[in-house]
Amino acid sequence: MLYESTRGNYRRVSAAEAVKLGISPDGGLFVPSENVVFDRKMLLDMVNLDYRERAYLILKEYLDDYSEEEIRECVKLAYNTESFDSPYFAPVHRLNDSLYILELWHGPTCAFKDMALQILPHLLTKAAVKTGEKSTIVILVATSGDTGKAALEGFKDVPGTRIIVFYPEQGVSEVQKLQMITQEGGNVAVVAVRGNFDDAQSGVKKIFADEGYNLDLQKSNYRLSSANSINWGRLAPQIVYYFSAYLDLAAKNVISIGDKINFVVPTGNFGNILAAYYAKEMGLPVNRLICAANSNNVLTDFIRTGIYNRSRNFVKTISPSMDILISSNLERLLYHLAGRDPARVRQWMADLNGTGSYQVDAPTRDKLQEILWSDYADDRETIETIRSVYQINGYIMDTHTAVGMKVYEKYTGATGDTAKTVVASTASPFKFNESVVKAILGDEATRGKDEFELLQVLSKASGSDIPPGLKDLDRKPVLHKTSTARDNMAEVVKNILLDI
Ligand SMILES: *Cc1c(COP(=O)(O)O)cnc(C)c1O
Repeated sequence: MLYESTRGNYRRVSAAEAVKLGISPDGGLFVPSENVVFDRKMLLDMVNLDYRERAYLILKEYLDDYSEEEIRECVKLAYNTESFDSPYFAPVHRLNDSLYILELWHGPTCAFKDMALQILPHLLTKAAVKTGEKSTIVILVATSGDTGKAALEGFKDVPGTRIIVFYPEQGVSEVQKLQMITQEGGNVAVVAVRGNFDDAQSGVKKIFADEGYNLDLQKSNYRLSSANSINWGRLAPQIVYYFSAYLDLAAKNVISIGDKINFVVPTGNFGNILAAYYAKEMGLPVNRLICAANSNNVLTDFIRTGIYNRSRNFVKTISPSMDILISSNLERLLYHLAGRDPARVRQWMADLNGTGSYQVDAPTRDKLQEILWSDYADDRETIETIRSVYQINGYIMDTHTAVGMKVYEKYTGATGDTAKTVVASTASPFKFNESVVKAILGDEATRGKDEFELLQVLSKASGSDIPPGLKDLDRKPVLHKTSTARDNMAEVVKNILLDI
């Protein structure tokens, strides 16, 4: 299997190269050059397999330059019960006869990004060996919250790698900050940037783009790489849990193999739902993919009109991991819907860069609407949904999942579709505890309490333990105290790597 760029101006590369490069040097994203198809018999054969076996069968199709043993080893290193607090890794919870919740937050940082970031470091270090790389791989991350911690947990103590995470000093929650600055591991560094997320992000981009600087680092045997969600090595592992959810429902006789179901995905950068699209294209029986947005509803407008317009106010919501106006991974879907035509993709992306918007042609828009349906939920609807699901089903969901739940209600209201549906649950309710406690116990319950006291409140109300990744954070030693001006990030990276 070779990978080609959505912009069409780079050679085809192997899976290992695609994983190592992350982004294509022509600015495009790597996509598989062939379709992988699983037939009915294959699905039947997979019903009684566990998560790891299912992951192996899917990943080996996409990563065909990795040996069987290598893929099995990566899967085993990633999905184990030391890192995950569920032996099913991505369990499906029944809410009622037609609605199921796919819990993607049983990993070490309590958000769905663990599903990919627990395995990416192993795929990447094997890719480095395969491509003859001799240098230590240095992962640079700018984070607005969840990704930084998930990347730190994934790369911690992985041989042949270092990781440096930059976060905006004022731009993350107290829990998110403590999760990062108490991070253990011999190869990790965490640095506060005096500025906002855009400052941190621009600083990292500048470092990647500086050829002289990169050459200097290579003389000391360091090669920079990125772990962000456009890396194919993050997308492929996400395909697995859509298959797994479907197969679990079949194993419990909720559906028969061949029955079509819907997936609802709370969406930001379009990575999670894109994996669902690949699953559908591979032959997983999917009726509709429902793209749930919050008040930053650029994707809802796009799916309804075919016009993507990022020129709008950025809204800070209680589902912050979906507060995104440029959904990078959408480019891959556009490439496929346009029949693998890089010229049209280049034009749309140039329009987006130049004017802040683009419009796809009518056939592309029609295909988009055949596959996807979209709506959004605002903060008030999100809180109300957490409350009503708690009251009716006794189930506590986080704010991002609640956005998905509300949009599912709007979907059934609009279409009358009664097909069985799975909502992807992207974070543990403990991670966004303030909004969750407000929703289920009322505003009074949060008054005067910090996030750590609220963890206790939520634990009592839910009868579940505080997840290990969030527990006792305020008592762990702070290991990372460096902070930097935004213009000095390159210097900081050098100092860390060369141990100055
Ligand atoms: C990252 C994230 C999302 C958005 O996922 P995308 O792949 O960027 O669309 C949704 N919910 C949570 C909790 C996240 O961390």
